[in-house]
Parts: sequence; structure tokens; C-alpha cells
Amino acid sequence: MPKVVVVGGGWSGCAAALAAKKAGAEVVLLERTDMLLGTGLVGGIMRNNGRFTAAEEMIAMGAGELFQVTDAVARHKNVEFPGHKHATLYDVAKVEPAVRRILAEAGVEVHTRSRVRDIEMEGNRITAVITDNDEKFYGDVFVECTGTAGPQSNCTKYGNGCAMCIIRCPSYGGRVSIAAKAGVKEMMAKKADGTYGAMSGSCKLLKESLSQEIVDKLNSTGVAVIPVPEEVREDENILTKKACQQYALKEFIENVVLLDTGHAKLMAPYFPLDQLRRIPGFENARFEDPYAGNIGNSIRYMAMSPRDNNLKTLGVENLFCGGEKAGPLVGHTEAICTGTLAGANAVRYAAGVSLVEIPTDLAVGDAIAYVNEQMKTEEGISKKYTFSGSVYFERMKHLGLYTTDIEEIRNRVRKVGMIDFFNRKVI
Ligand SMILES: Cc1cc2nc3c(=O)[nH]c(=O)nc-3n(C[C@H](O)[C@H](O)[C@H](O)COP(=O)(O)OP(=O)(O)OC[C@H]3O[C@@H](n4cnc5c(N)ncnc54)[C@H](O)[C@@H]3O)c2cc1C
Repeated sequence: MPKVVVVGGGWSGCAAALAAKKAGAEVVLLERTDMLLGTGLVGGIMRNNGRFTAAEEMIAMGAGELFQVTDAVARHKNVEFPGHKHATLYDVAKVEPAVRRILAEAGVEVHTRSRVRDIEMEGNRITAVITDNDEKFYGDVFVECTGTAGPQSNCTKYGNGCAMCIIRCPSYGGRVSIAAKAGVKEMMAKKADGTYGAMSGSCKLLKESLSQEIVDKLNSTGVAVIPVPEEVREDENILTKKACQQYALKEFIENVVLLDTGHAKLMAPYFPLDQLRRIPGFENARFEDPYAGNIGNSIRYMAMSPRDNNLKTLGVENLFCGGEKAGPLVGHTEAICTGTLAGANAVRYAAGVSLVEIPTDLAVGDAIAYVNEQMKTEEGISKKYTFSGSVYFERMKHLGLYTTDIEEIRNRVRKVGMIDFFNRKVI
């Protein structure tokens, strides 16, 4: 049985590990912190706009487990907020243990507190990865899902310093890129102003620190949109820095948009606390993530791998990539899509079976191929792509790929011969 080693346990790494296991490999998943899900630990928004279509395509293709788990631990379903329809908001406190249980039941060997610090190679093949604890994990094929946030030096150089985010570089060591260790020249995203990186687009407030009226609204509807008095408004420039361009809308400057993911998710990269506390209902506000949400947030998209549409990393024989590592495709749904394909193709590669691409007749396949093309141009690399808004959602609508008709989505998947594809054993 071939052995697949997945490095990084965010949404993409979990998806890659699950897909590789289902395809018939022995799978080890290495995560540097104490918890899985990476930035997904402070996320929560699923199924908004075109993410609904993508999630249902993946379910029809046999990769539904992680979508079913986020649905199962949802605090709110079918929520609307500015520019976004039919969102599901998962509970950030419940989702990680639920995902761990799914991986354990599938038989994935998960190692937390296992930061890969180095690799061993023979020619152009990776043979093993080595963790901070000096453990060595050998594999036939490797999947890199290390994300693009951190290390601290990136947040200092390209952002406002370490904001003490969920990535927790000071505690667990910074992100280490496997592709870079193997000699791959990685790509850095640019902001609209030409500077490198992108700042994470939301932060979280402790719900208990908000007024009872706001808390009640959040608990009952999932959303609270509170107008920001003009004298307290942020400079509109903050929108151009956002990693999540689907939320770079005027409404997010004129209002504080809060979503209930257990904490109150504030849809802005950061907010000066003194200003925030001048808004009625926020007099006692306090940040939950990042702890220094008063001044900044993490900088991401600093290390993306050149790759094929089957998610094989270019330049290394036996390395695949998923999630943010595979390009500026932002989001949990997006990370699950690319992670799943990377994991499945890793097993196909090990088994000597031809690699697959998801057909571009499906939104997931089109997004993977389109972003790959965009990454090659100056203009393209300065944008972020997501099924949920901005340029890619526009493209989805233009191509007729966006729909919430589940039967129609299944028919499309059937038409391209991909029904239950990710449930098929390769070995
Ligand atoms: C604050 C914030 C809020 C967000 N909210 C949402 C949202 O509501 N909805 C949405 O769809 N998207 C949201 N996003 C975006 C989304 O979280 C990401 O695009 C997506 O989840 C990225 O997944 P990933 O697996 O590629 O990377 P990450 O989530 O960054 O995971 C990478 C993992 O790899 C680990 N790692 C790194 N290096 C190593 C190493 N050398 N060895 C072992 N492990 C390593 C890290 O510890 C981490 O757990 C949010 C992002 C942020 C930052």
C-alpha cells in the first residue's frame, strides 16, 4: 500500500488526507499546532453565493464528508448579509473535534505538534520529511497543504506586525514551505497597490463583550449589521488590503457587519478598539481573534506553488499541493476542493494511474484551471478568487455555472462522469 504524507492540517490538508485514504493509501497527516483546521478555526462561512454550487458538486463527486460536518455543526443556515446569499455559519468551537473524528474513523494517522522543518530528497523526489521533534516520516508521495500565512517575519515586513492570530507562530514555530525546501520558486500575491501579501479580511469579537441587543440579534438571526457613525469610519483603503475581496464592498465600511460563528465575526481585517468602542453597543468590545485585532491581522498569500490543474507541484516529482498553497483561491470550500483533488491524485501518482483534472464544465474544475492561468500574469496574481464573490463569482454567473438547484448540479456531475469519483478506490 503506498504511503501518502500530508503536511499541514488546515481544511485543505484534512481534505487531502481523507481523499487519499478513501483512494486506498496509508495516510499520515502532520500539523504544527495543537489543532487541525488552521485558519478554519476562526472562519465559519460556507455555502455563500457560488460556494453552494461548489459544495454540492463535491458532494455529488463523493467528497461530501467535510461539507456534511460543517452543515451538521452550523449555528445558522440560509443567512443573508451584504452581497451574500444562502450562507451557512459553522460553530468554530464544535467543528475541529468533529473533523478529527471523521479522520480517525477513516483511519488517517494524525500527528499534531509536528511541524515539518526539513525534507530529505533523492534526485528530484522527496523521500522523507523531518519534524521539530526530529521524527522522520517516509512516504511515496507528499501533499503540501501548509497554507500561506506566517511566519511572523512576513506579518512584520508586509503587515502591521504579529497580530497574535490563530496561526500562533511564536508558540509553534512559523510556517515552513515544503516546495521551497525542495527548490521550487514560489509565487507571492500582490495587493492592488502593488505591495506583497494580503491581510486576512475578518476578525472576531468576544460575543459577551457586546450589548445584549446585538447578542440577541446574532443568536436569533446569525447576522447583525450596525451602521458606523461617519466620524468613526475606517479609511476605504483598508478594502484594497483584504485577502477576501468578496467582502471589499462599501457596505463593510459604512457598517459593522457581524456574523455569529460562536464568536462575533467582524467582517473587517481589524478595527482600532478606541474607535470601535465609540459605536453604540460596542462600548465594552474586546477582540477574540487576532488578540491584537486593534492594529492588524495576519498576512497571507506569500508562498504559492506553481502547479498543474491536477494539483501536482511543478518542479518536484512526487509533490502535490492544495489550499492556499495551490494559488489565490480563498476559502474553506475552495481549500476542500483543491485538497481533495490533490489527495486523490497523490494516490493515483503512487499507483501509476493517470492523474485527473476536474472538467471545466463544473465550477470546481473551472476555478482550478482559471486561477492557474491567472497566477501567471501580473494582473492575475494581484487578485483573489473565490466562488463566493468578486471576479470568480462573476465568471461563474457569466458561464452559467452558478446554481442552487441540487438536481441540476448532480446532472452536470453525472454528465462529466464524475459521480462518486472520490469514493472510488484506486488501489
Ligand atoms: C481570520 C480568517 C477568517 C476566515 N474566514 C473564512 C470564512 O469564514 N469562510 C471561508 O470560506 N474562508 C475563510 N477564511 C479563508 C480560509 O480560512 C482559507 O482560505 C482556507 O481555510 C485555507 O486553508 P489551507 O488549508 O490552505 O491553509 P491554512 O488554513 O493556513 O492551514 C495550513 C495549516 O498548515 C499548518 N502548517 C504550516 N506549515 C507547516 C509545517 N511545516 N508542518 C506542519 N504543519 C504546517 C498550519 O499550522 C495550518 O494548520 C478565513 C481566513 C482567515 C485568516
